Amino acid sequence: MSVGRLNLSHGSPDDHHSYVKFLRQAAEEMGVAVGILADLPGPKYRVGEMEMPEISLVTGQHFIFQQEPRRGNSERASVWPFGLHSDIKKGSPILIDEGSVELRVEEIDGEEIHCRVTMGGLMKPNKAVTAPGNTTTVDYFTPETEEALSFVIGSDIDFVGLSYVRDGGDIERVRKFLAEAGKTPQLVAKIEIQQAVDNLTSIFAESDAVMVARGDLGVELPFEHVPSVQKRIIRMANEIGKPVITATQMMESMIEQSSPTRAEVTDVYNAVRDGTDAIMLSAETSIGKFPFKAVQAMTRIAKRAERFLEYPKLADRRRAAAFKGGLAVDDAIADGAAVAAASLNAKAIVAFTESGSTAGRVAAYRPITPLLALTPDIGAGAKLALRWGVIPVVVKKHLNIQDMFTAGSDLALETKIAKEGDVIVAVVGLPIGVPGTTNLLRVIKLPEPTGFK
Ligand code: PGA
Ligand code: MN
Repeated sequence: MSVGRLNLSHGSPDDHHSYVKFLRQAAEEMGVAVGILADLPGPKYRVGEMEMPEISLVTGQHFIFQQEPRRGNSERASVWPFGLHSDIKKGSPILIDEGSVELRVEEIDGEEIHCRVTMGGLMKPNKAVTAPGNTTTVDYFTPETEEALSFVIGSDIDFVGLSYVRDGGDIERVRKFLAEAGKTPQLVAKIEIQQAVDNLTSIFAESDAVMVARGDLGVELPFEHVPSVQKRIIRMANEIGKPVITATQMMESMIEQSSPTRAEVTDVYNAVRDGTDAIMLSAETSIGKFPFKAVQAMTRIAKRAERFLEYPKLADRRRAAAFKGGLAVDDAIADGAAVAAASLNAKAIVAFTESGSTAGRVAAYRPITPLLALTPDIGAGAKLALRWGVIPVVVKKHLNIQDMFTAGSDLALETKIAKEGDVIVAVVGLPIGVPGTTNLLRVIKLPEPTGFK
């Protein structure tokens, strides 16, 4: 795994603090950079607390959703955050837990929503309440989202997942809020409602990465729209050069079974072939019976898919988009590194990167050569874990360029990625430590002679 996700809609802050601690400890023991993504609840409606662990709703029965927080029963339940009654209309369908129960709104009486159950099933507390096709007017900062943000501020988090974003404005506000508290995690916009699909341009502009959140997307949109939206979002992300995560139900059957269905194998394989940076597990690893096997299975499928990846086609997406904007120096160098490494049959590209931007930029050109990101900042390494193809390596800080070349040469030889006589490609931004200045490309024949000054 590269990144661990905490879903802040479930569990207590104490639970989440201990998960962060365990993740950091395990990563340190193994000497790998692992990112932590914490998901904010966002303006998503959920069923409130209930008197029993679950209730069975029968087709044809009457049921009330109320705003007032009171324990639910077989006649009524509360919904949080406040506001569903003003977002829906008479006749709107309401789905519980991605369609386990379906209802239709018969009447809205003040803050009470009177419904008829159109398809019975089990309803449990905290499950999603979706009104497909309706836009949410709730303020992005619900009390639950504010609580989750204060957890992020008091913890050690690399990525914040923004559930139910509607446009770039939601992202901008979260970024400002966190920055005022001195926190600058990367922001992952979860695309899970029609409104977000309509506002992809502003969302991409404001976010550091996006997620194709297929679980909610397949409820908010007709499910047959999900594959084309997935491909469109991945293509856009590749063009813009920002990471994209494909999420939900990827290995769903492995919650119960020790091996995936053939359809799941094909889905994971195809997401990698589509050009996704990351593939995500949810229930498979949070409540499933085979969490380790699920990660292992996914890794095997992804590795197989990468053998058949259409590298030039994926690089062209980024190249064409970057060129349209007037090719910048850093993109020319990043692209040049990928091209030079392939044509010289280099064994590795080593990107020296403090903020992570240089390595990220090279990754966007999908080099066929392994890409090592050498960074003195463990936080930058953790953030690069989300990027396609990047192997983050934490190294000591180098103050001069020759030390960097020597360190790159040593690392390539020590890790046996390359041997004497092989070639590696080094990419650096000068002056050292200023992000957004990828401007130096060097080809190193191993070993780099020592004693250069
Ligand atoms: P969730 O987001 O798991 O937080 O709901 C992902 C999705 O909706 O697919
Ligand atoms: Mn979701």
